Amino acid sequence: MYKNNSVSKLNSNLTLVLNASYVPLAVCSSKRALCLYFLDKIDVLKNYNDYVHSPSMRVKIPSVVKLRRYVKHNNLDVVLNRKNLLIRDNFCCQYCFSKSHLTVDHIIPKEKSGPDTWENLIVACSPCNSKKGNRTPQEARMKLMKQPRRPNRFIYFKQFVKQNNIDWEGYLFSGKN
Ligand SMILES: [Zn+2]
Repeated sequence: MYKNNSVSKLNSNLTLVLNASYVPLAVCSSKRALCLYFLDKIDVLKNYNDYVHSPSMRVKIPSVVKLRRYVKHNNLDVVLNRKNLLIRDNFCCQYCFSKSHLTVDHIIPKEKSGPDTWENLIVACSPCNSKKGNRTPQEARMKLMKQPRRPNRFIYFKQFVKQNNIDWEGYLFSGKN
């Protein structure tokens, strides 16, 4: 249906999908967003400057779209794993801001029954982690840059904004999150 160069653009571009209430819901490929558009399931709010061409038409690639029908989604939880901890902590040690040799540190050590929770796990560089050892930050006299919190799905959208359209920011950080 589309010319080859259009298809590659479609596959590499991402589209921000908002719920009918304008709350960010997901990020999908622009190809998927165009399918939803042709199925009449979304309204396009913002476009990229690129087009896709088919023999019969020229369509702008959608950047931000909104679902016509509200989708219920109560699960804004983010899975607790190393990758998501790194995203939450901006890929830097929470003691010294180093960005190399990153490990995951239990604030209250495992040996002292420190749980595997968002509130007790942080990213720490290997030197800080060894220095702290099996002690709490207070015992080790090490200060945390910030108190770790449980993140929600918005951290995902945040990482996409860096590589994508600035158009998204207005929809992601409008105070509705
Ligand atoms: Zn460090």
